[in-house]
Amino acid sequence: MIGLETPLQFLKGVGPRRAADLLRVGLATVEDLLYRFPIRYEDRGSFATISTLRPGASASIAAEVVGCGVRPTRRPRFRIFELLVRDATGSLRAVFFNQPFLADVFRPHQRVILFGKLELTSHGLQMQNPQYEILKAEADVQPDAAPLAAEPEEDTLHTGRIVPVYEKTGTLTPKMQRAIVHRTLAEVPPDIPEPLPADVRARQGLIDRRTAIHDVHFPSEGTAVEQLNAFRTAAHRRLIFEEFFLFQLGLVLRKRRAEADLKPRSVVITDEIREAVRRILPFRLTGDQKKVIFEIVKDMERPQPMNRLLQGDVGSGKTIVALMAAVVAMENGFQVAFMAPTEILAEQHFITIRRLLESSRFRIALVTGSTAAKKRREVQAELSGGSIHLVVGTHALVEDPVGFRELGLVIIDEQHRFGVLQRASLRSKGVHPDVLVMTATPIPRTLALTTYGDLDVSVMREMPPGRQPIKTTVRPEDRRQEIYDFVRMQVDAGRQTYVIYPLVEESEKVDLKAATEMADHLAQDIFPQYRVGLLHGRLKQDAKERVMGAFARGEFDILVSTTVVEVGVDVPNATVMLVEHAERFGLSQLHQLRGRVGRGQHQSYCMLLYQYPLTDDARERLKALTDTTDGFEIAERDLALRGPGDFFGTRQSGLPTLRVGDVLRDHDIMEAARREAVAALDDEKQAETLAAFVRTSWEQRFGLVGVG
Ligand code: ADP
Ligand code: MG
Repeated sequence: MIGLETPLQFLKGVGPRRAADLLRVGLATVEDLLYRFPIRYEDRGSFATISTLRPGASASIAAEVVGCGVRPTRRPRFRIFELLVRDATGSLRAVFFNQPFLADVFRPHQRVILFGKLELTSHGLQMQNPQYEILKAEADVQPDAAPLAAEPEEDTLHTGRIVPVYEKTGTLTPKMQRAIVHRTLAEVPPDIPEPLPADVRARQGLIDRRTAIHDVHFPSEGTAVEQLNAFRTAAHRRLIFEEFFLFQLGLVLRKRRAEADLKPRSVVITDEIREAVRRILPFRLTGDQKKVIFEIVKDMERPQPMNRLLQGDVGSGKTIVALMAAVVAMENGFQVAFMAPTEILAEQHFITIRRLLESSRFRIALVTGSTAAKKRREVQAELSGGSIHLVVGTHALVEDPVGFRELGLVIIDEQHRFGVLQRASLRSKGVHPDVLVMTATPIPRTLALTTYGDLDVSVMREMPPGRQPIKTTVRPEDRRQEIYDFVRMQVDAGRQTYVIYPLVEESEKVDLKAATEMADHLAQDIFPQYRVGLLHGRLKQDAKERVMGAFARGEFDILVSTTVVEVGVDVPNATVMLVEHAERFGLSQLHQLRGRVGRGQHQSYCMLLYQYPLTDDARERLKALTDTTDGFEIAERDLALRGPGDFFGTRQSGLPTLRVGDVLRDHDIMEAARREAVAALDDEKQAETLAAFVRTSWEQRFGLVGVG
């Protein structure tokens, strides 16, 4: 008898050799195999016939190979593999680009299935780079797996019905997987464990697990192919829900666990404290700022540690909100740690905070990677002694053996730049401290439930008064002169300009050279009358600070920089953001860069220079930027363009590894799963069983780490 946890090598027809192949693509157990769903379904009950094929459409055909061969082309190293096939109604050419190894795959008289798009070329109608499957091929028979390929069911499994098509990985072909899955399903007993509570299943109208697992691979007759390919059959819904439900159980449990640990003490608000907070304010708060500080202080007063995410578009004024929270904590005798993702930003926060706290009794310090060892030891001693009240820093804060006397509040700026782990280790330097994380990359609604399901969320959409919307223009390279003229006008009027160069990791050196040369070129040839500064990541920290400080004080008119200024930098007199090679940047990144201007009372401009060739995606990105300045909308569009995996750009972003669900496509199911997970854990009868289940499998399964 086999179960879901049975290693694949114990399956009939899968010997040690094939089991090793499967393991190499991440499939160890029966469950791994069965939860690797088809990527699409093909209706092979009714193949198109060759005579009915039309250009522009995709089709699958069943045919016989007539001949094949590799054809060289005029372009060196570019080869075309040609395949001629026929069925009862006619013959068709299929071509494959740069896959000469196919010469070892195809031979005359094979029965094949081709799926692909038809193009009308000068050679007539042909299929380009089709997906293929060879119905009868001796190569499939491995010595230790002989029964697998020799099954009589073979033909009815791969044709004459709706067949599942799997992603080809390594040596595992779609056809092999289909056969192994089919065989496995025949052996899996009817009563596999059911993780979903019965009432949840009933409420959500979900079919049982065993049926779902079968149908998702081999749909019963009459299932619509469209529904299958939309991943919306009853089987899909059931299994996607299952995955999301378990995931949400873990998130909700994590949140409840965090709330179960009470703070040693919570803050108290008095009239004096209110007055102390008011004294640091350099301006009147916006309505949203007031709303959010109210939410934060309410959390701080509670006995449970705060776990709040503050989302606010670039320039909405998050820093002052964080500082107000810090003052509340310090007035209550707590220490505060304020972490920023870059040294430039940490330095800038340090300067701002020092200025605003000048007349207070609080002492603050800065710790970054380039703080000298001696200075660092001094700060450490003062932090553990309690004579420093607030420390601003980079991740060096986490790495140092820094100990606090009584760390009560942890603030993390631009949280999306940090891994979950760093968040956790800073928190662990206090005893259940309050945690406030801030981000200017709004989390699209569709992702919020997934990534930040264990945080409370505050949102600031309102901008400080007097801001004019930034004007964005997109220009090709050949309009460069116009843009230079415009920069001149602005600088002559007393404003400042950023010129940004992309710095792509693979070619960091080349780009750095480009940025350096550009700075020289601008300084000497284009703007000899202006003061031009250069900033990039390779500069020593004190050099960076000097350049940034000089720009902030207005000692440079133009700052040529790589994206190191991307987050957080605040120079209100800068009104032009000129981005070179804008086509190379991501959408959110461009939005962040644009957020560096428009921070004062002057009309500001974002100018995006691009070079051809422009991909469709790049065109979309540039268009999105001219369409809107709303960070929330930009985030939604970015997500749609890039997909959730790439959205945050970092691996440790807090996105779960999902096997079957897709947070975008299946967002409605995620919402339902969230509701049911909360309800299930509220029900004492089943809460313990569910919690135990999650504890054993959750973190490993979803690749997420506990927050602390
Ligand atoms: P972000 O949310 O991008 O971190 P900052 O906190 O850097 O934004 O604030 C952007 C700019 O707006 C700063 O110069 C800050 O001093 C200013 N600012 C913030 N809040 C207000 C306000 N209520 N009124 C006027 N200016 C404000
Ligand atoms: Mg900021």
